[in-house]
Amino acid sequence: MDQVFIIGFIAVVASVSAYFQLLKPSGAIAAFLTGVFIWAGFGIKGLILLGVFFLTSSLLSKYKSHRKQQLSELHQKGAARDWAQVAANGGTAALAGIGNFLLPDPIWTIVLASSLASANGDTWASELGVLSKVQPLSVKSFKRVPTGTSGAISAVGTAAAAVGSLLIALTAASLFPLGPGWTGIIFLLGVVGTMIDTFLGAYLQAEFACVTCNRLTEKTIHCSLPTRHVSGIVKLDNDAVNFLSCFTAALAGIVLYIIF
Ligand SMILES: [Zn+2]
Repeated sequence: MDQVFIIGFIAVVASVSAYFQLLKPSGAIAAFLTGVFIWAGFGIKGLILLGVFFLTSSLLSKYKSHRKQQLSELHQKGAARDWAQVAANGGTAALAGIGNFLLPDPIWTIVLASSLASANGDTWASELGVLSKVQPLSVKSFKRVPTGTSGAISAVGTAAAAVGSLLIALTAASLFPLGPGWTGIIFLLGVVGTMIDTFLGAYLQAEFACVTCNRLTEKTIHCSLPTRHVSGIVKLDNDAVNFLSCFTAALAGIVLYIIF
């Protein structure tokens, strides 16, 4: 009975999120599966940690959303998350859930917490960084670039990444027996994951140019026409970069866990 109730609860949260345009239908299905896998592996505690990520990043993406809409010219996707965005941010955590379900081990808690710390840090950095009045600095050219450009940093975004990661680390520490050392490591892994995201975004992520208006964009279609590939790996879009940074943060956590 309890289990039916919890699966029902996850389904309701995913559906309500789709209703309020936080998730596209494909994103709601992916979020439901992510929730079920994490619950199967870590129980309610895992769901609470996922909930902190989901709730805060959803609220932040709605925060000053009309101002962000003016920036959506640059971005591939709008505010409602599709399945690829959900998998990019929650995929590694869902894998940890499956892992802990099949083969229980404290190492999966490290994977769960460090990947969510990275996802939360990165989402907070993106959602708050774009509101910075100062144009961000590209980590590739060290020049000021338009707000919202991948691979660029701002003081506001960097601070947001640190706080976002810290929130997940502290929540994880209150739920799981991590101890101060691992809490600190998870916080740092979250920050490192966000930095990896920035550098992959700057050096490897695909960038396109509109054939009509010449604007640089992450979109494959602009002004109703297919865009021209300018730099980066064609298949490596923002979602792939996000997934890789969360996955790498978790992988670094695994390596540290094995060493210590
Ligand atoms: Zn255009």
